[in-house]
Amino acid sequence: MFKKILIANRGEIALRIQRACREMGIKAVMVYSEADREAKYVKLADEAVCIGPAASAQSYLNMPALISAAEVTDSEAIHPGYGFLSENADFAERVEKSGFTFIGPTAESIRLMGDKVSAKRAMIKAGVPTVPGSEGELPDNPAEIKKIAKAIGYPVIIKAAGGGGGRGMRVVHTEAALLHAVQTTKTEAGSAFGNPAVYMEKFLQNPRHVEIQVIADTHRNAIYLGERDCSMQRRHQKVIEEAPAPGISRRLVEKIGERCAAACRKIGYRGAGTFEFLYENGEFYFIEMNTRVQVEHPVTEMITGVDIVREQISVAAGNKLSLTQKQVTIHGHAMECRINAEHPFNFMPSPGRITGWHAAGGPGVRVDSHVYHNYMVPPHYDSMVGKLIVHADTREMALARMRSALSEMVVEGIQTNIPLHRELMLDAKFAAGGTNIHYLEEWLASHQRG
Ligand code: ADP
Repeated sequence: MFKKILIANRGEIALRIQRACREMGIKAVMVYSEADREAKYVKLADEAVCIGPAASAQSYLNMPALISAAEVTDSEAIHPGYGFLSENADFAERVEKSGFTFIGPTAESIRLMGDKVSAKRAMIKAGVPTVPGSEGELPDNPAEIKKIAKAIGYPVIIKAAGGGGGRGMRVVHTEAALLHAVQTTKTEAGSAFGNPAVYMEKFLQNPRHVEIQVIADTHRNAIYLGERDCSMQRRHQKVIEEAPAPGISRRLVEKIGERCAAACRKIGYRGAGTFEFLYENGEFYFIEMNTRVQVEHPVTEMITGVDIVREQISVAAGNKLSLTQKQVTIHGHAMECRINAEHPFNFMPSPGRITGWHAAGGPGVRVDSHVYHNYMVPPHYDSMVGKLIVHADTREMALARMRSALSEMVVEGIQTNIPLHRELMLDAKFAAGGTNIHYLEEWLASHQRG
């Protein structure tokens, strides 16, 4: 096992990884920007290195600074967390070339999955169901583009091969609008992602977002840890996640999960990963793979009892997975509310000093957060300040537990979206389960207030 790991991230995930290291007897080196100097997880770290000014480009995205921090601290491995450089193949490569272990898949796997056209092709080959669409990149010939769209059937969606973060996509409803949309998406993709390649998919009207968690070791073992439903989204950002996904048959999840695990074995994937699907009318359609730990990993940890971060570190050190597929069992239901420093209804960011912080507690309640009384939320980064996670025997009990936990949360000095979560937990349709990816935005539009 490693003796020392550098954590190339900040906030709650940096603390989450630090906790896993402590339990495993591994020293954790924290890096921080000047804006995060005062954070407790930095002050309480075994070692901490300042890697630059507040701006991410000069700190958390600064590859040479991160690698030299690993060098001066004699770290053996680098955990990238999520966001920042976690899905950057060049970083993974530089980390390994500098003699450290990258806690994640190979640069090659990141590249394969980072290009959505090659990812989709790999999934089709591995027998994972995908959204019906063009065979790879769209050709230049206008007549052929029209032919492809006609065969798929309108509406279609034009997507950038190199796209991410909900950008580089355009829905087309008629043939008249097709060529212009393809051209615009190409131009945008070229300047935003440095890759003008686009492809076409059937646009699914009312899908849910359901994803499969996988983890693989370097001994060709790969397992899936069930699914998560992350359909409650605003602007393609997940707001509430839960596991299992309500109303989807175990048989179907198992079938898809097995295919995902098989795909991992086929491409020689290592580490944790997520296969994201749209789910509509009883069918799963692969859209993309995330080659890192995800924000919502705790709901899976709660229902399976598997510590995903621990497992990530262990397989990166060359160990076998600590359990087999047969040993994966699902208990009860878990739900996560992302707590953001923002106005609950107009979503204006609300950084600043937290003058009062009281976190919920009790049986089946988990709060993953790096903040505390008097913590200063810096304005430079993502607005998420923590995650409230509950686990109970049934979904109904998990909902009741979440309502109770949300009523206990006190955050003073800044605004948070806790009031929004409180209302959503009382919504009858959400409580019934199975709302689609448009539901939250529709709900917000019909609950407008000043
Ligand atoms: P990104 O990498 O930018 O997140 P994704 O491929 O994961 O891109 O798609 C992001 C979101 O866009 C999906 O969660 C879904 O809401 C929507 N979307 C993508 N493809 C389709 C599709 N074929 N039909 C309907 N919605 C889609």
